[in-house]
Amino acid sequence: SNEVQVIGGGLAGSEAAWQLAERGHSVVVHEMRPVRGTAAHRTEKLGELVCSNTFKSTETTNAHGLLKAEMRQLGSLILDCADQSRVPGGSALTVDREIFSQHVHDRIHAHPRIRVSREEVTSLPDVGIIATGPLTSDALADAIRARLGVESLAFYDAIAPVVSLESIDQNIAFRASRWGKETMDGAGEEGAYLNCAFTRDEYEAFIDALTTADQFTAHEFDSVPYFEGCMPIEEMARRGRESLRFGPMKPIGLQDPRSNSRPHAVMQLRMEDRGGRMWNLVGFQTRLRIPEQARVFRMIPGLAEAEFLRFGSIHRNSYVNAPAALSSHLSLRDAPQLMFAGQITGVEGYTESSATGLLAGINLARQIDGHEPVVPPPATMMGALYRYMREADPKHFQPMNANFGLLDDLEGVAPKLLKDKAKKRELFAERALTAMAAWRDEAGIIPTAIRG
Ligand code: FAD
Repeated sequence: SNEVQVIGGGLAGSEAAWQLAERGHSVVVHEMRPVRGTAAHRTEKLGELVCSNTFKSTETTNAHGLLKAEMRQLGSLILDCADQSRVPGGSALTVDREIFSQHVHDRIHAHPRIRVSREEVTSLPDVGIIATGPLTSDALADAIRARLGVESLAFYDAIAPVVSLESIDQNIAFRASRWGKETMDGAGEEGAYLNCAFTRDEYEAFIDALTTADQFTAHEFDSVPYFEGCMPIEEMARRGRESLRFGPMKPIGLQDPRSNSRPHAVMQLRMEDRGGRMWNLVGFQTRLRIPEQARVFRMIPGLAEAEFLRFGSIHRNSYVNAPAALSSHLSLRDAPQLMFAGQITGVEGYTESSATGLLAGINLARQIDGHEPVVPPPATMMGALYRYMREADPKHFQPMNANFGLLDDLEGVAPKLLKDKAKKRELFAERALTAMAAWRDEAGIIPTAIRG
């Protein structure tokens, strides 16, 4: 048949199906619930929210708010359903989850060009969108690995926190690679890492704080077997006071230029993006609660004022190594009309997942109609997320949420203005929204009339 296949009726799949159908295409959404459940979903509704009931901030000076404002410029079903089920949540777009998924469910079912088929898909279509989320069924995950290579699909994420470059005190943190080696592209003689050196006292105090901090308690759906490379830093610390000093915090091969001696212990920061705006706390994947992460990790010398662009977490999460395996519009490289959308692409969160569903729907419709796929410029939050998934280092690829560290620096702005964080974010937002509108119009994308 000439129906377009959308696999998964979650946030991304529903948004993608809507975008395709509104552009005149017949769509079938394959959703395995309730025939087959996931460990987190509870209902058979499309667009079920599995955990919190918020899409986060609506303010454009917040990264999530900016992403939503960009999505509204393109016309988003998911955001419209969220608006219609909103409950008081201050500046956050917070929803009644039952009403929200009922809206998504009804809008998709009522669309004359969308059919919903309740079944588990176990093989890849030739043309379509795979939006099966963080809990993609095993059979389909196997099919994805068979097609993309086993290394290309992860089952768990073990995320270490990421901080902004400007918030790292570089009078304390020093640039160096262990033994002066391990250089990375562009890192030159300086060394690829920023190193935070601990004295014995600082280390002891840090271990005390780390091992007594409040931890996130796992639900059944995201209990993760701890294996190599996935063990939370606090768990490692609990196995012995010295274990971090012989593990991720080992000081060997490093010399603190201030004391010209080897530190007692070191926390290394690795560049997370090619622009060097985001720095990853190497080996610090964690299950600490978010306020605890901020409190404990700001004890690290050099990070007292750290701005966290992403907090750490460890979850069950199926996601493709996008920079290694996908094209810039998140299709298979040898099949531009077989695309991925949602959390499985390596974005993280409700809004981000919906945003990739939106663009996937637009781009599949374009391609079927004989046009090239398009991606917004990196001055936009959406475009910056796509850039991350295209250009992040595939060896260390970790899922990413919307944040200002993904955006290019502002050019032609007085340095004084850039010191004012609120002003800076206003300028980011202004630039992004202007760029998004210009890109949309140039590409000839007509926003869907959401409630027409
Ligand atoms: P989903 O919304 O999960 O949709 C995927 C759909 O595909 C599901 O309906 C599933 O049943 C279906 N499916 C899977 N395999 C198949 C198959 N083989 N055939 C047919 N259908 C299939 N993000 C937040 O922003 N806030 C949170 O609080 C939050 N909490 C989370 C808690 C948990 C336990 C998990 C796992 C994730 C959480 N996330 C949270 C991330 C969240 O899952 C995503 O942000 C969002 O739901 C992803 O949207 P999606 O459309 O990609 O996937």
